[in-house]
Amino acid sequence: MESGFEPRVLICCDCGEEFVFTAGAQEYFAERGFSEDPKRCKSCHTQYKKNQRLPHHQPADAAYHQSDYRSPD
Ligand SMILES: [Zn+2]
Repeated sequence: MESGFEPRVLICCDCGEEFVFTAGAQEYFAERGFSEDPKRCKSCHTQYKKNQRLPHHQPADAAYHQSDYRSPD
């Protein structure tokens, strides 16, 4: 069965640039019950994550691609 998700263009709250909320990412969000859209593009999200305290064994870029992919306020 098709997922029914289609890529959507969103505006990054940090840099103001458009970015694509991919079907895969939407499915990921839906599976985890996230009701809000991501607020940041990939590069800003990565930068945002770098500014957070991350476990040393988990680089920010890896976090983006794994279970930590979300865009908190
Ligand atoms: Zn951005």
